[in-house]
Amino acid sequence: MKIVVLKFGGTSVGSIKKIKNVSKIIISYLRKKFKVIVVSSAMSGQTNRLVKLTKEISHNILPAEYDSVVSTGEQISCSLIASTLNEAGYLSRSWLGWQVPIFTEGKHSHSRIVNINKKNIVNYLKKGGVPIITGFQGINSQNRITTIGRGGSDASAIMIAKSFKAERCVIYTDVDGVYTTDPNISPKAKKIKKISYEEMLEMASLGTKVMQPHSIQDARLHRIDIEVRSSFNNNPGSIITKKKNISKNNIIRGVSFTKNDSKVTLVGVKDRPGVAASIFEPLFKNSINVDMVVQNISSNKKETDLTFTIKNEDLNKTKKLIKKNNKIKFKNLIIDDKVAKVSIVGVGMITTPGVTFRMFNALAKQKINILVISTSEIKISVLINRKNLKKAVDVLHKEFKLDN
Ligand code: ASP
Ligand code: MG
Repeated sequence: MKIVVLKFGGTSVGSIKKIKNVSKIIISYLRKKFKVIVVSSAMSGQTNRLVKLTKEISHNILPAEYDSVVSTGEQISCSLIASTLNEAGYLSRSWLGWQVPIFTEGKHSHSRIVNINKKNIVNYLKKGGVPIITGFQGINSQNRITTIGRGGSDASAIMIAKSFKAERCVIYTDVDGVYTTDPNISPKAKKIKKISYEEMLEMASLGTKVMQPHSIQDARLHRIDIEVRSSFNNNPGSIITKKKNISKNNIIRGVSFTKNDSKVTLVGVKDRPGVAASIFEPLFKNSINVDMVVQNISSNKKETDLTFTIKNEDLNKTKKLIKKNNKIKFKNLIIDDKVAKVSIVGVGMITTPGVTFRMFNALAKQKINILVISTSEIKISVLINRKNLKKAVDVLHKEFKLDN
């Protein structure tokens, strides 16, 4: 069987008109003799609305009930897609996570798919049917409905593609691929034809909003090729694949950024073992994600400064937690909530010397001050003042020859 998995994001199924368009896309694959498995998100805005309803009751309703509520958007979109296909004369039906079933493990709202029952779906495909499976949801060993994290239907599609040994997994969304940087900020952004899992994972984690990072990890682990494309036009998309499949290796594949960061500095903290752990423990316990961390070398061997970044939305909570943390002493707390993080990403930098210098030099020429730096094998991130964001993106895009 030549199977293709087509995943539609919320905007692609955002109205009945758009769902009719989606059914045309599905039919085009059937005409090419593919067996099609569809995975869909909820109609855009739905899941947010459902989350809000739960919050109107309480900010901590039971996790199992929370998942049961927020997973319902997918039931609607999937049945609407199936019905549209039925109207056009095709055999199609919806499948909820528990009906497949899609088995998950782990905590509610952050579960991971571990196993998918294939039998019924395979039989249906053999009959010529088009199964429309809800993304984002599954069940656990207690038979409760689970969800796998916001934006999780990407991961559902990848795991389904893996289980059914699909030839392709196509992610339909509202942008026609992965770009070298955000086209909304830089008109020079170019569509990337092929990108490695590693680069895509970094770019997604560093702010490029195309796919959910978890789903790329899953794709990488199981070697599933992904095509990202738009459901609104016919433009060829971007392929996310293994490094080996990419012939043209630029040093830098893209420039990613986030602009909702805050920088927190604790001035004059005691320089002794365990201090950093005491600072971060309450943040961790409150699910506050700390991103970049720097600790200065202490000049007097007694005290040091510690700087870290978090998302703006976590700033108030972080301030409170630090102020009431009696395990730590410091002289001053300095907050900057107007910073942005710009990152260059590319597997090519592993083998190319001088990338760091070129990045810093290009920024220096624009008189952009670097506040914090962090690096990994295939990325370099710098924290800068938010007002310099566009300038920084433009100059790095040009420096690493992504403009042409
Ligand atoms: N509907 C879910 C969400 O909004 C899952 C998804 O869109 O992938 O998070
Ligand atoms: Mg979505």
